[in-house]
Amino acid sequence: MTETSPPAPDRVVLVKNPKAVFGTLTPSQNPDDPAPYDASISGIVLKGNRVDDLLRGEEVYEGNIHQTVDATDLVVLPGLINTHHHFYQNLTRNLDSAVGKALFPWLRTLYPIWAELTPQDIEIAASTAIAELLLSGCTTTTDHHYVFNTACQHAIDLEIQIAEQLGIRMVATRGSMSLGESAGGLPPDALVEADARILAESERLISRWHDPNPLAMVQVALAPCSPFSVSRALMLDTQRLAEQHKVLLHTHLAETEDETQFCLDQYGCRPIEFLDQCGWLHKRAWFAHGIHFDRQEIELLGRQGCGVTHCPNSNMILGSGICPTDQLLQAGVKVALGVDGSASNNHSNLVQEIRQAYLLQRLSGSALTHFDALKLATSGGASVLDRPELGHLRPGAAADLALFKVDDLRFLGSQDPITALVTSGAHAAHHVMVNGQWRVKGGEILGLDLQKLKRTHRERSESLWARAGLSA
Ligand SMILES: [Zn+2]
Repeated sequence: MTETSPPAPDRVVLVKNPKAVFGTLTPSQNPDDPAPYDASISGIVLKGNRVDDLLRGEEVYEGNIHQTVDATDLVVLPGLINTHHHFYQNLTRNLDSAVGKALFPWLRTLYPIWAELTPQDIEIAASTAIAELLLSGCTTTTDHHYVFNTACQHAIDLEIQIAEQLGIRMVATRGSMSLGESAGGLPPDALVEADARILAESERLISRWHDPNPLAMVQVALAPCSPFSVSRALMLDTQRLAEQHKVLLHTHLAETEDETQFCLDQYGCRPIEFLDQCGWLHKRAWFAHGIHFDRQEIELLGRQGCGVTHCPNSNMILGSGICPTDQLLQAGVKVALGVDGSASNNHSNLVQEIRQAYLLQRLSGSALTHFDALKLATSGGASVLDRPELGHLRPGAAADLALFKVDDLRFLGSQDPITALVTSGAHAAHHVMVNGQWRVKGGEILGLDLQKLKRTHRERSESLWARAGLSA
């Protein structure tokens, strides 16, 4: 079954008798409950592209129902939200020359390979990343693309078109690098762009693609890559442009101690002070990683209403450190989850990232519970992206759902199905609905030839490596 047209506004789908449902409670109903889900939910009514009603106990829906899905064996979550990624990196996973390195030497190894990207590479990488995300229960994703060689000037347009074809909700962030090695930055000069071009392209993308409406399928944010790859002038100009167009801002921040030292050497201050000087600390800005903050910096981020994306797998693989999620949340910082690029995570599975966040935070002595970790990938993501209609399952919210079976061997003997989903490690959604349309049914993406995608990805990745002088 393939559904390509938007759902009719009055089409009703009933998800009946769910095993458990997360994300139906409002914060005011249950701010501190350690098991924050409503066990009495017996049905979710979806009308068009929104949640219409929640049924409890013996309640029945009185109107016409066009499709009923039996969820007796399924845990239902709000569609998961991925707030940091670099799709293109799945072409350079696990390269021998990069494995085991820390961020700066890892980037220096990969920049020359990424310089060889073609539009065909961008398309297959985006298809692969989005397919992997959908299959893991993700219904909204960001992507931070910042590599614009001569061949890939329209990389973000291509990514958005792939997202539209596969039906995922997307916030495309226009990345940029303007500070090359000769000017003291980290990336090679061949990969940086002029500020004027970056700003003109940012405006073009906002004009072409950004939809400010609450249930938008495509939005655009602006995202200079990091303090060590763009100029102060570009940070200032990008902030002004984002303010003018009311779009979000995003960048990498406080990922490693190398970054802190770079800012001290280049700007005479720590990274967060640099961003503050550039006018970036406000509620429409969110930052990937957010590891190396001191107490005053965390409080400043909270007062200013900023967001942080926790990327546990990437942080562990690169040995970057541990995001202080407890302190950030207590200070009022919005915290979400991200898989980060596939070359530093080596997969793009968002539901696995939830388990990893829980485990890493446990190891660090954090009080973050498995339910809190699930919130990071649902309501936390919605908050960071300023999308209150996402990340919840309550009347009026987007009809974005991820349904998981919890009957694999790994789940046997579990008491609570939602606890099992996080702590035993669900890895594949059974059904996924985005904006009222089924995109994954029975564990398969509707309308996508996965075997062909795998073959093409292998060909493109090997071709990229060959152009960069690597052997397959
Ligand atoms: Zn990243």
